[in-house]
Amino acid sequence: MSDSYKQPLLEKFAFWLMDFSEKFETKGLKATDKAFDKIEKDIDNLFENKICDVCGDKIKIFGKRKILDGKICKKCDDKLSPFFCDRRQSKLEQIKEQLNYRESNKAAVSAFNVTRTLNGGTVKILIDEDAGKFIISSSRKWRNENPDVIKLSQVTGCTNDVDEIRKEIYQKDKNGNKTSYKPPRYKYYYDFKMIIYVNSPWFDEITFLVNDGIMPVYRGGEYKDTEKKAQEIKEALIQKGVIL
Ligand SMILES: [Zn+2]
Repeated sequence: MSDSYKQPLLEKFAFWLMDFSEKFETKGLKATDKAFDKIEKDIDNLFENKICDVCGDKIKIFGKRKILDGKICKKCDDKLSPFFCDRRQSKLEQIKEQLNYRESNKAAVSAFNVTRTLNGGTVKILIDEDAGKFIISSSRKWRNENPDVIKLSQVTGCTNDVDEIRKEIYQKDKNGNKTSYKPPRYKYYYDFKMIIYVNSPWFDEITFLVNDGIMPVYRGGEYKDTEKKAQEIKEALIQKGVIL
């Protein structure tokens, strides 16, 4: 960002600071020069032109993404796998390697031929049975999103975690006030969390909810359907001979 933008903002901020420090002084406190210096330095850092270590583009304000030994821009960060969550712990070389893989993944997406689709609630599991590969994506236009194409042989396990949430059911007394039953009554709701363990250099697991936002009640139709869906996903992704 050029200084022409920076100057008016700094001036505005300086006025605000003067006003702030006057109010402070009336309370017997004095904002020190050191504090002003620090604030000015912070502003300078915010406006300083930063360069992405990967693509060399200028990083916009609030666009900086830290990596272990440097920084990258939002555009490069967006190209990383959505299942990758170790950016801050990754070195520049590892990020570059992954971006190379992500680039080559585009060809795998083009060649991907969906022969079976499973509905995972919040995501779709697309399978290319002939190639022994699958994609997990929440996007309808998944071909444009460069989703990771994963080999079925990379799946090392699937776990279905069912989380229970208890909600109390109330009654109304004769005055219309909400009161507890005696003893209290509850309704139980469930989240079906699927964790797929994957042997990949970039991510270890893929997690999603099999129920579609709404938590089914215990043993209701929705509960049984979700349970069935989870089982189907497991069976489709786990190849014979793989130990759960
Ligand atoms: Zn970049």
